[in-house]
Amino acid sequence: MTVRTRFAPSPTGRLHLGHVLAARVAFELASVTAGGTFLLRHEDIDGPRVREAFYQGIEEDLTWLGLLWEGAPLRQTARITAYESALTALREKGLVYPCFCTRREIQEEWARMGAAPQGPEAPVYPGTCRHLSAQEQREKIESGIPYAWRLDSHQASVLTGPLTFRDLRFGEIFVNPDLLGDVVLARKDIGTAYHLAVVVDDAFQEISHITRGEDLLSSTHVHRLLQTLLELPEPLYFHHQLMLDEAGKRLAKRSESLSITHLRDTGLTPQEVIALTDPVFRLPSSPAS
Ligand code: GLU
Repeated sequence: MTVRTRFAPSPTGRLHLGHVLAARVAFELASVTAGGTFLLRHEDIDGPRVREAFYQGIEEDLTWLGLLWEGAPLRQTARITAYESALTALREKGLVYPCFCTRREIQEEWARMGAAPQGPEAPVYPGTCRHLSAQEQREKIESGIPYAWRLDSHQASVLTGPLTFRDLRFGEIFVNPDLLGDVVLARKDIGTAYHLAVVVDDAFQEISHITRGEDLLSSTHVHRLLQTLLELPEPLYFHHQLMLDEAGKRLAKRSESLSITHLRDTGLTPQEVIALTDPVFRLPSSPAS
């Protein structure tokens, strides 16, 4: 089988060791299979935190590490019309609804409910705007209240029926649409959001193996649902372990001391920096099973 992988960082900072691990997994999985391809995608829809210098910084760090990608890197900001078409397709199926809630209103609703429904990382949206009538939606839109589009996860899963995805570390996983609930598919400012953009682009770049940190496992449930609704091909997944700091926490971009620029300045060679990810680096035993 042809293996196509990608590394998809956000240009909101320089790369750190956690990124090296993610890029290395994708790069090596493509390298160990004949004819494999490793691609780079800048997930630059994160508005004000994106800086032009970080696109270059990411490419410079990867080049120094020898994790070279093929072709021109894709920028998500160049793909807005593709996300709009996907959103339109979901709207036509009646699977998304406009959400007018502010963060504060969502918190107030959780307080009224007695407790916020918990997802794996954060509380899930309580579904307030799912119940608005078509007329109420129209009135709010016409009065100029800003809104985001949310997936009606219940409706969506009724339509698709039970789904699974295949992870090369964990095996077959049943999709649980309630894990993240009615996620935002399009933010007010940019007209898309992470879940929609990533699904549309992985299909566009024909990614066969999506490698990502195990912290994104719950997102994959939503992605499998979206792939089915948008009639996109089903990729294989490999959710890898994360690099943790001394306190056992996920490395954040703030961990300056673990940035590649800093490690490079201390005199480490690219091979030595890559070797720092050895304790958690694994590849699937077979890319296809
Ligand atoms: N852009 C995501 C991140 O920086 C990763 C992309 C993905 O695998 O979905 O964590």
